[in-house]
Amino acid sequence: PRKIFSGIQPTGSLHLGNYLGAVRRWVRLQEAHDDVTISIVDMHSITMPHNPPNLRENIFVMAATLLACGIDPEKSTLFVQSSIPELTEFNWILSSLSTMPRLAQLPQFREKTRLVKEIPLGLFVYPVLQAADILLYKATHVPVGADQLPHIQLAQHLARTYNSCYGETFPVCEAIVENGEASRILSLQDPGQKMSKSIGDLLATINLADSPDLITKKINSAVTDFTSDISYNPNKRPGVSNLVTIHSQVTGQTIKSVVDEATTLDTAKYKERVAEAVIEHLSPIREEIKHHLARRNEMIHLLEVGASKARQQAQHTLSDVKQRLGLGTSG
Ligand code: ATP
Ligand code: MG
Repeated sequence: PRKIFSGIQPTGSLHLGNYLGAVRRWVRLQEAHDDVTISIVDMHSITMPHNPPNLRENIFVMAATLLACGIDPEKSTLFVQSSIPELTEFNWILSSLSTMPRLAQLPQFREKTRLVKEIPLGLFVYPVLQAADILLYKATHVPVGADQLPHIQLAQHLARTYNSCYGETFPVCEAIVENGEASRILSLQDPGQKMSKSIGDLLATINLADSPDLITKKINSAVTDFTSDISYNPNKRPGVSNLVTIHSQVTGQTIKSVVDEATTLDTAKYKERVAEAVIEHLSPIREEIKHHLARRNEMIHLLEVGASKARQQAQHTLSDVKQRLGLGTSG
């Protein structure tokens, strides 16, 4: 059976790209009876300066959002990363198998540190922590965006290195990279780049928690082109095609049927239709997010149950690892 692991940073609300490209896939994997473990990776959120009350709040918002999107704690293991102390212990062990040049060449590190003078050590080593997460739960498959592939390769490398030094222990995980249309939802303001939470332009990104009015406003002001009819051609007409993709994703209709139904509409009218479809799809999710946020104690309980499931596995892995490494006195 496949053992799926994925992590998500508690950055507050998700945007439509995260939802269609990532979270909805986790829900599908969970429905397909794969063993799915999802960690809200708060330890990763402190690698850059952060605001503690915001972090705490964002952990709850992320948990509520994942639950609202259909992550079912009965089927999946959902927990907060920092509640597993074994992880940082294991992280030290994997750090000792990692080299500085290998980490320094990772593209995301180079990108994120371009403007930073004194690079925080946490930012440098965080791919090791990511690998520690994957290995600790002995994941076989890791669903990620394409930008994460170098990090998955590091996890694979560390699994192989460990296995060859200390004996066959860790599966060499495989990345599951989505390549359907949902894998790249574009910015509404600049269809040359993907929708992302780090875009400054507030109109570019639809958040799951956005009000219907705000969603309408954002979609109405989406950048398209000077052709007024609706067609799907991601290369020549990225803006309109992005709306078609979103429309098809939220209605479950094929691209073709969405386009066929829009033949009599111009772009302005079509935007109204897309906005309606997005609102209809997101409204129940938005209500569910509120519902969960109003029941914080239930969420705390449920995350603790998740953490104790995860922790059992973590302890099992770590005690084997420590024994093989000759650490401590027991075993
Ligand atoms: P950042 O700009 O900080 O990198 P992000 O918006 O890219 O943030 P991440 O937290 O990096 O979000 O990604 C979470 C998950 O959502 C990843 O699996 C990623 O591949 C997926 N994802 C992010 N943006 C999109 C998008 N525009 N379309 C489809 N999937 C996306
Ligand atoms: Mg990203």
